[in-house]
Amino acid sequence: MQVIQQIAQWQAVQTLWQAQGQRIALVPTMGNLHAGHFSLIKQAKQQADKVVVSVFVNPMQFAPTEDFDRYPRTLAQDATALADLGVDILLAPSIDELYPQRQGRLGVSHDEFAVQPPARLTDRLCGLSRPGHFTGVCTIVLKLFNIVQPQVAVFGQKDYQQLAIIQAMTQALNLPIDIVAAPTYRHETGLAMSSRNQYLTTIEQLQATAIYQALQQISTGLQQGKTSAELVNTYTAYLLQQGFQSVDYIAIVHPHTLADIGSLTQQGAVVLIAAQLGKTRLIDNMQVLPVA
Ligand code: AMP
Repeated sequence: MQVIQQIAQWQAVQTLWQAQGQRIALVPTMGNLHAGHFSLIKQAKQQADKVVVSVFVNPMQFAPTEDFDRYPRTLAQDATALADLGVDILLAPSIDELYPQRQGRLGVSHDEFAVQPPARLTDRLCGLSRPGHFTGVCTIVLKLFNIVQPQVAVFGQKDYQQLAIIQAMTQALNLPIDIVAAPTYRHETGLAMSSRNQYLTTIEQLQATAIYQALQQISTGLQQGKTSAELVNTYTAYLLQQGFQSVDYIAIVHPHTLADIGSLTQQGAVVLIAAQLGKTRLIDNMQVLPVA
């Protein structure tokens, strides 16, 4: 595996692979890789001839109050794991490489241009408490798409709103890229794997499994005909009782539009939860199939 930090160095590889007709898959990450990321890479390998994994902690998607500075950075360990998995390229650009300070045409610097997803998709769920987050996500993902020029890109269902917005961006901006959605990979306890889980104490790791239990119970409740309102009330109280400081949201939405739904429809539903446990904000979701 080659570790590349310069865009120009990547472009030389890309030119060669393009001439050879190689199909390239990109898996964008912020590093500190775990089994959830590895499951995306396995999917990528099935979809393409060459796999590029990017590791970049994108400052543009963090608010000043968020965990950008303490976000775990473990590049050497990530590189070993990726080489073992048979990844072809680890693309790990510096901030200056992706957002250079020098100004280009008209005195415009890189971070002055942004890809703004529609408010309808961002003024809810995680977008409400993280204003500007999805603008940062769309901007970095489009930049990576333009640099890497993959035919396929793999994203996790773990970040459901992010996945939905990237799918919408890809379609709306006519990007010739297949977006593959990979299922959420969990610990045996049901806790979704996440780089942020390492902020949790041992006790919090146990408490955190209440999110998965709530998702399962809400799914069953919906299939039994219960309304979203009653389930949201019951399980908000449940999470608070289990030790969560606050519940940012429990939402039951249409799988494509992300609009709130009052009960299970023929299209099914997605249940999404974001809640604060100690110093850590956890998110998870579950797709609910309609009852046959
Ligand atoms: P991150 O490094 O957290 O930005 O995540 C990079 C990619 O991995 C995103 O597409 C995430 O949705 C995905 N991902 C993170 N955790 C998981 C998980 N437990 N299962 C599946 N995909 C995941």
